[in-house]
Amino acid sequence: FAANLARANGFLERFRQNGVLNQIGGRAVPAASGLTFETLSPVDRAPLAQVARGAAADVDAAARAAKAAFADWAATPGTERRRILHRIADGITARADEIALVESMDTGQPLRFMAKAAQRGAENFRYFADRAPYACDGQSLRAPGQVNVTSRSPLGPVGIITPWNTPFMLSTWKIAPALAAGCTVVHKPAEFSPLSARLLVEIAEEAGLPAGVWNLVNGLGEEAGRTLTEHPLIRAVGFVGESRTGSLIMAQGAATLKRVHFELGGKNPVVVFADADLDRAVDAVVLMIYSLNGERCTSSSRLLVEASIYDEFTARVAERAGRIKVGHPLDPDTEVGPLIHPTHEVKVLSYLDIGRAEGAVVAAGGHAVAGPGGGCYVAPTLFTGAHAQMRIAQEEIFGPVLTAIPFADEAEALAIANDVRYGLAAYLWTSDLTRALRFSDAVEAGMVWVNAENCRHLPSPFGGAKDSGIGRDGGEWSFDFYMETRNVCFAT
Ligand code: NAD
Repeated sequence: FAANLARANGFLERFRQNGVLNQIGGRAVPAASGLTFETLSPVDRAPLAQVARGAAADVDAAARAAKAAFADWAATPGTERRRILHRIADGITARADEIALVESMDTGQPLRFMAKAAQRGAENFRYFADRAPYACDGQSLRAPGQVNVTSRSPLGPVGIITPWNTPFMLSTWKIAPALAAGCTVVHKPAEFSPLSARLLVEIAEEAGLPAGVWNLVNGLGEEAGRTLTEHPLIRAVGFVGESRTGSLIMAQGAATLKRVHFELGGKNPVVVFADADLDRAVDAVVLMIYSLNGERCTSSSRLLVEASIYDEFTARVAERAGRIKVGHPLDPDTEVGPLIHPTHEVKVLSYLDIGRAEGAVVAAGGHAVAGPGGGCYVAPTLFTGAHAQMRIAQEEIFGPVLTAIPFADEAEALAIANDVRYGLAAYLWTSDLTRALRFSDAVEAGMVWVNAENCRHLPSPFGGAKDSGIGRDGGEWSFDFYMETRNVCFAT
């Protein structure tokens, strides 16, 4: 732990000294206004760095730089884009240690998960790098006297707006396909955790990405974020964040007819039937709510358990929750670190009061933890005796808080699972294959995992239904968003 802390402080020193700059047209620059804002470490609530507070002038400069770089980047052969994107992945791998340590201190996420997130960031680049040469491919569609030939071409400069949870991994997931497709990018990271986005753009330019292809503008959502979504040169906005912010972005982008892609909030059910492999189900339930501090869009925050095993199963989850090690994110033993920011800690703690007031029973946790450094620590919490209409069963808490609800039969489980505004993911535990298929068809979710925790295959579609999103990422779905499809018809 001490060695991790010393190395993290070494890597953070440059941010403490020089702050976090924007990157526009290949140059590291402060905000045009000269203004900055502070980013805190949730470990001790103390300032980590001053961050450039970009606003309309900075977004405009970045959008113009992205526009100026677009024609050349779009015309760069896919094989060359592939080479550069692989070099970015190499750069991520070479600096994985730095990325993981900086990300842990900026977000409070345990180092054990952030090391994996850095690795996944490199994988995202490699996956889309290998597809870059084929991004423009289309198909031919014959009709009597006609041949129709389709192809895709990159859309233009795009805006990418990312949230504070796992910011490094999510940024790579959104930006790699845009670059592979031949688009240029203006990235606006979240104000609570801006450090790793700075590392990422530096790695990209060191890897040979031409100036202006990837621009970074830090700033507040309602300033830099809003002007990015309104900018006429920006053709599309890829956004990951809260559902209500998605609504705002849709309205802000309406005047310039922005294409939008939204990955939004969730209140994902994990449904456990009595015939399931309960040992594996307990492991998955514990992992999928308490890992990443519960600050995870695909976390299974509603536990629906068949009534006949409800008491036994929830007792096992409570026992496991009580044993989770809450602590400093750089301690290798830590499983749950501090929440991202004092304001988010207040929000999560308020739900502990709301749950009690609604009549749910605290079976584990239910309180703040006086962790090392005095950071924003909250104990892994399980509410039992809950019902589907409680606010703790309806609203996204985005912390280590699980709400357990009993169900009598499959029909009731399905009704409860679908009775929320969200539809990102669902998890299903049963040994009955027929039921698994029936339930997966009927549950309102963009992604369903059967007898599995959240495992990913990058060509498969990722995204949500209902208020959880618009569009899909992964494989061809990403290229469809970042590219325009053209049809050419040859007729006799
Ligand atoms: P948020 O919506 O508050 O902020 C996300 C980003 O949007 C930030 O960069 C912010 O500055 C910017 N923003 C805020 N207001 C804006 C505006 N008016 N115009 C343009 N940009 C604006 O979300 P958050 O609190 O940072 O992140 C947590 C949320 O993200 C949760 O709801 C979580 O479920 C969701 N999330 C979803 C996925 C997914 O894949 N579905 C993944 C991760 C996180």
